[in-house]
Formats: sequence, structure tokens, C-alpha cells
Amino acid sequence: MQGVGFRPFVSRLAKEHGITGWTANTPAGVIIEAEGEPEKLERFSADLKTRRPPQSRIDSITMSPLPAAGDAVFEIRQSRSGQAGAAIIPADLAVCPACARDIAEPDNRRFNYPFANCTDCGPRFTIVKSLPYDRANTTMSEFEMCADCAREFGDPDNRRFHAQPNCCPVCGPHITLECGARTFSGETALPEAARLILSGAIAAVKSLGGFQLACDAANAAALDRLRKAKNRPAKPFALMAACAAAAKKFCEMSAEEEALFNSPAAPAVMLRKKENAPAVSPGLATAAVMAAYTPLHRLLFAELAKRGFDGPLVMTSANLRDEPICISKEQVLQRLPGLAGAVLDHNRGIHNRCDDSVAFVQDGQPRIIRRARGYTPQSVRLGRGGGCALGAGGQMKGAFCLARGAEAFLSQHIGEMDEPGCESFYLETLEKMQALLGVKAETAAHDLHPDYAATRIAKSLGVKTVAVQHHYAHIASVMAEHDINGPVIGLAFDGTGLGPDGSIWGGEILVCEGAKWERRGALKAVRLPGGDVAAVEIWRMALSWIMSVYGNNWRDKAGRVFGGLDGVDTAARMIESGFNSPYTTSMGRLFDAMSFLCGGPAKAGYEAQAAMEFESLCRGGADDGWNFDIYKENGLWVMDPSPLIRAALENPLPRAAAARRFHGALCAAAAAAVQKISPESGTKKIALSGGVFQNRLLLGLCTGRLARAGYEVYCNRQVPANDGGLALGQVYAARSTLGA
Ligand code: ZN
Ligand code: ZN
Ligand code: FE
Repeated sequence: MQGVGFRPFVSRLAKEHGITGWTANTPAGVIIEAEGEPEKLERFSADLKTRRPPQSRIDSITMSPLPAAGDAVFEIRQSRSGQAGAAIIPADLAVCPACARDIAEPDNRRFNYPFANCTDCGPRFTIVKSLPYDRANTTMSEFEMCADCAREFGDPDNRRFHAQPNCCPVCGPHITLECGARTFSGETALPEAARLILSGAIAAVKSLGGFQLACDAANAAALDRLRKAKNRPAKPFALMAACAAAAKKFCEMSAEEEALFNSPAAPAVMLRKKENAPAVSPGLATAAVMAAYTPLHRLLFAELAKRGFDGPLVMTSANLRDEPICISKEQVLQRLPGLAGAVLDHNRGIHNRCDDSVAFVQDGQPRIIRRARGYTPQSVRLGRGGGCALGAGGQMKGAFCLARGAEAFLSQHIGEMDEPGCESFYLETLEKMQALLGVKAETAAHDLHPDYAATRIAKSLGVKTVAVQHHYAHIASVMAEHDINGPVIGLAFDGTGLGPDGSIWGGEILVCEGAKWERRGALKAVRLPGGDVAAVEIWRMALSWIMSVYGNNWRDKAGRVFGGLDGVDTAARMIESGFNSPYTTSMGRLFDAMSFLCGGPAKAGYEAQAAMEFESLCRGGADDGWNFDIYKENGLWVMDPSPLIRAALENPLPRAAAARRFHGALCAAAAAAVQKISPESGTKKIALSGGVFQNRLLLGLCTGRLARAGYEVYCNRQVPANDGGLALGQVYAARSTLGA
């Protein structure tokens, strides 16, 4: 691993043990030539493993004896380039406590300097152009270190020894603030930015992997402008807090959540809101909150604090809807004209665009929802090696995965693949990642859906390809993460994915073994009237369920539910005839239908809104009282929620009580189906994946219940359970089927 202070550590350790020789980075990893007494060498190599820098990871150490060279000292040699191997640069690291102190000390030479960094922190992936990870190969190459910085860089006892982006106010990048025709630089830029934000302005802030839009989260007018400009009427915005203590003023935070919040990856952490939390996530019990993770953010919060402000800022990606995040001032001004009253820019280039990551803690474990800054390009270890396989990913939450040897590298979150700019960002990133890793995809796995952009891209590469069913890929992502070959019973619950029968799957129970899988259970299939539009006009799925339950009588029994809605008769005819209404077993759509039937809105303002709000209603957890029918039909165990539909209509409950019963019933149905399928398939291993398992209540209920019943339960941790993790499962499938 490069860029985490490993070689300096080796050098210090060698001196401590009286070892001579040298160390160098190569694309194949770190090489150490160590010369000394055998017992010293032994202690040295033991310490390499146990005392390694916190950000480093040692995958393997290979040792072989050499004739003594008679070196008098231990030195760090120039990096060697050459053919690619196992080395990889680390992800960007949030500012460390020591650098945070440096910028806050008036007599420090980096006082108030927004680009302070060291071997423990700072930009990495976002500034790297090529390997090895040396300053010359980063966007810092244009800044020549001053004598003071060069001294630190060359001093093995200094924290900044070989810190590639090392810089200071004398030699490094600088910020500027532009608002309208006025430009502020140097010491005036941050105070002015703080002043503007407090006066209600939205500021675009250049962060590590792109621009963010920042405003006072308590300023309703600013929030409203942001929603309109980003064309996001209801979708939640992330928040940034000065520190964990500041976040705790408006959110609850467990010890594990605090550790994740303060981790070097510094993702936005989903936290339970307190009463006084700003209105950034209407209808939800949680908000995504991240730490001020760069010196620039820290200094901005310090300026705000000087003016008496101690609240959080909205900190959302500067983009339109789900387009790629802007990485230059020009893009911000072009894509979001007139929005940013101020642009806080700087002249350190961003080579790799990378959004903020989002994660949550469940059962004490961090779990990723959006995998980008702070995680990319960290690899997921695979159980075995092989050639270079590409997993192309899905249509929503696009991200690809490249397997090299026994490591799988996921790209950063790309975005919704049908948004303008996402496909070219995908292609550009694929090229960059292949270059960084020194590989070229030899095989490619893609979704079964022929119209996904990623499917088209995979097929255009001119390599052997394999189509992988969406829900199997979800389960395979868990198998890849935990190195399971199976058999395993996979519960893949999500919004949408094409089944091999041409219907829309999404509530599947699959028995998987390596690349082989079989569908053994599913949610009862009903019509999806109008296809994708039903995910927005969620009353349509309620209608579909009601017609399935009540048949021709549905108007007498439930017609009133649809009063005042346009298009009900047309939708009913579509459901009857099947026109533009494929069958679906989507679990996401069942959440939509139940949410509406239990008094929720008829339309969703953003993807999965109904499901997220339904979960948020369950303050006290889940309840019993409702039950799915479970039966076998054509060899398939069917989870049939018809009794729930009837109960919701005929014995209506307060919305929150209904939501609690629904969660309880779904967990019980999943457990009941597993209990039927487990003896048939001879396994007690269960994998849970798919976007529905971002529902923390359901995830907790299912893992707890299944574990108590004696099953071994596996879930996604390093990659998202949503479609952002599909590519890992596809790679697993490519490796297994194509023998790659
Ligand atoms: Zn540092
Ligand atoms: Zn300097
Ligand atoms: Fe999915």
C-alpha cells in the first residue's frame, strides 16, 4: 500500500533494530532489502506486521535470503515504475488530529492553511494520475516544495516524511472565493465565505473529489432554493457538522457510529435525528451526517464559530439530480447557473472525481450505502485469484468492479446511468482504473437487462461476456465478500431487476452454489401497471394488489382508496389486460403499495421514499399481528401478502402501527420461507442483499430472527446491498462461469 507512510515506518523500524539496506515502492508492492543479525531480522519482520501504520494493510509478505551487500545505512530508494503488480494507492484520508492542531495554532507555519496533510491524512486517490504514488504522478506535481517542506519530506523522523502532497502556505495550493464579480483570496476568502453562508447564501465548496453545495441547514429559504435548483423536491440532503460533539446536539450517536463518523474514510453516517434536527430529510427518522473532513472544512467551521454559529451545514454534491458531481468552478457555474452565491475554489486539481460516501451502523458493524470517497480504490479480498474480470454494474447507482488476482476493485459511485454525463464518466473511470491497476478486462459480466447502459458497454469491449441475473448478483456480492461458495439461501429483496422469465423480479429467494443458482421462493407475482412509472405513482401498485385480492369486486371493497386520483380506470384496464404491465415480484413495490394503503402519499418524490418513510414510522420496532400466507406453487415457495392487504383495508390501523405490523410480517414471512427451503437445500447459510436491506429495522429483524433460529446469516458490509454492490457479484459470477 502506498501513501500511508509505510516506507518511512520501515526505515524507522530498521534503524531501531540496527538493520541496514533499503526499501522502495514498486508497482508490485514494497520491497525491503534488510541486512543484519538473524535474530534482529526476525524481530524486524515480526514488528513489520504488528506495528504497521494504521492506514496500511499487509496482504502478504514474501521473504527470501540474499548474500550480504555490506550496506552501512538503511535508506528509502526512489520508486520504481514498470509493469503493474499488486500495489495500489490508498483512499483519501480525513484530516488527522495532528494536522487539525497544526492549522489551529497561531504560531504554526500552517496556521489557517486549508491544505495541511501528512502521512496519516490528506488527498490520495482523487489526486493520483498514475502509479507509483509519487508527487510527480499527482496533481500536486505543479507545486514545488519550499525548503521547509522539502526538509520535512526528507526527514525520516518527521510526520511528513515522504508525504507526497506535503505543502504549506509558501509553496502549496491556495483558495479563492468568487462571488459575482468580486474575488477574495488569502486570509479574506474564508471569513467572507462564512459571512455569505450566514447571510443565507449557498456556497459551492471545492472538496477532495468534487464540489459540494453548502448552506446553513437551519435556513429554510436557502434549503428551498437548493431543492428547486437541484430539482430535488423531497430527497434528503446530507449534513456536515464541525465535530462529533456538534452532531450529537441534533442526532443520536452510538460509540460505533461515532467511530465511523471520525474514521479516516469519514462517510456521511445515517444517524437518528433528535427533535431539533434541521429539516433536511422530511418524513425520515434519520439524517446523513459527516464530519468536517478536510482542513478547508475545519477552517470554514472555525470562521462560522467566530460568528456564533455552531449548527450543521447542508453539504450536498454539486450536481443536478444524480449527474456526476462537478469538479471545476466552470462546471458549477454551467450546470447550476445562478445557484451558488459564492464559489470557494482552489488550485489543487481533482484528477479522479469522487462523491462523498454514505454508511450506517447495524449490529455494531459499518455498512456502506454509497461507496466513494474514503473507500475507493480499496479492494475487497476475494477467496482466490484469477484473470481480470469486469463486473459492469447496474442501471441505478452505477459502479463497476475490476478483479485483479484475488482482489476486487470497485469504482467509485458513478450515478444513475440514465442521467446525462454518467455514461461518459463511467467510460473515463473504467479507462483510468484499468490504467491505475495495470490491467485490461479479459472477461465481462453484465446484467441480464439488455438496455442497461453498463450492459451495452460490457458488450462493446470485445471480450467474452456473460449475462448475470440481477438478484443472483446481489447474493453473489455477499458470497464474494464472505468467501462463501455455497450452497447458500439468498434473500434478494429490492426494487427491480429483470428475471429470466421476462418479468420484473425483486422479492426472491434463491439457492446459490458458486455460479449455479435456482429460484426457490418469491413474493407473489402481480401486475406492474405502466412499468417504471409505478415506482413514482405508487398508488398503481396498491391498485394491482387490491385487484389481485378482491378480483372483480375491488371497486366495492376498495374503490374509495383511489378517490381523486387520475388514471385509475386506465390503470385497472392495464392490470386486467396485462398491457404494458409485466408481472412483478418486487419487494420495493410492495412497500410502496402498503405505504399508500396505510394512509401514505400516492406518489413518491424520490426513489424508495415510501419504503424509507414507512421504516421511519416504526419508532418502537416491529409488531406481530399480520401474517403472509406461505404456500408452495409450481415448485416455488410463495410469500403472499394478501391477508395484509385485506387487513389494511378492512381493519385500518394508525399508519405507524400498520408500518410496525408490516415489518413484523415481512420478517416472519422471510423466516418461514427459509425454514421450508433450508431442509430441501441442505444448508443453513443465509445471505441477505438487495436495496430493501438498507432498511435497518428489517435487516436487524431478519438477521436476529434467523440467527436465533440457528442459521448463519451473512450480509453486505464493504459494498452496498443496493445496486451499487451488484458489480462485485457479477465479478464473482464471471470468475465462476467463465473460469476467468
Ligand atoms: Zn495529518
Ligand atoms: Zn512549503
Ligand atoms: Fe437491485
